[in-house]
Amino acid sequence: MRIVDFHCDALSKLLRDEELTFEGNKPGALDVTYGKLRESGTLLQAFAVYISTSRADEQQIDPILESIDLFYEKVLTLPDMRLVRSAADLEACIADGKTGALLSLEGIKGLQGRESMLRILYRLGVRAAGFTWNDANWSADGVMEPRGGGLTAKGAEFVRACNELGIIIDVSHMSERAFWDTAGLSSKPIIASHSNAQALCAHPRNLTDLQIRAIIECGGLIGITYVPYFVRSDGGATIDDVLAHIDHICSLGGENHLMLGSDFDGIERYVESLTHPGQVEMLREAMLRRFSEPLTERILSGNAVAFLKNNLPAE
Ligand SMILES: [Zn+2]
Repeated sequence: MRIVDFHCDALSKLLRDEELTFEGNKPGALDVTYGKLRESGTLLQAFAVYISTSRADEQQIDPILESIDLFYEKVLTLPDMRLVRSAADLEACIADGKTGALLSLEGIKGLQGRESMLRILYRLGVRAAGFTWNDANWSADGVMEPRGGGLTAKGAEFVRACNELGIIIDVSHMSERAFWDTAGLSSKPIIASHSNAQALCAHPRNLTDLQIRAIIECGGLIGITYVPYFVRSDGGATIDDVLAHIDHICSLGGENHLMLGSDFDGIERYVESLTHPGQVEMLREAMLRRFSEPLTERILSGNAVAFLKNNLPAE
């Protein structure tokens, strides 16, 4: 059974430690490594470019470009990894048994409102973009920004620019108001790459039932995430607690709109028995005990593959 995972932060660790390799030369340093992706049968892994707010140059384009350079030099150079920029690239990964790598942005602060930068990043392979991390920037407020503002005028222009270029908009870290602004404006389906259900775990990073229904209605995707405090309020989360979020989103009509968004390498604590891609097998086994095999397959990869075939450029 194949796996698609729409969010990991391995690139941010590679950016922080220049000696680190994607093969995992420092045991325990990376959750997502080349070997673990291959062993787990991962068909596609999205690699987020996340720039820490503690960096002096976090408002610049430079660390974004350096992260993309690391993606090309340390990830795509490995023999069974393939860059996925199009539906055809994804088809080729399926046909050849390769692991696709999709480049996404977790925050567009460093683009400084310049659409030329968005076009350049698209040409470098970026195919999904979250406009904010938790803080606010020129495009929108993030989910932890207390004023809770929506999209700025510039942010709205970037929604249109992403739609036109073919960059999938990721609303996971957006404030609720920015979420609704984006949902109202985007002519293409939106995704929440790594968020769970607020009805089960009342964290602002999770989605309300109204938000979940809006993503379903627009034909988008929700990536179930393994961040323990987005799974259960006390953080002591098990795989069964992850299944409860899947159950809830299915009860709202989301069977064809669920995928995985692990947040591996972006977390320091884990859901029990879910600490690296090799352990997604445990999640799969638990899902098969609770859900049908076709539904399990759709959540693990089928929904995301169908979505990407429709929402990535054909060639
Ligand atoms: Zn995140």
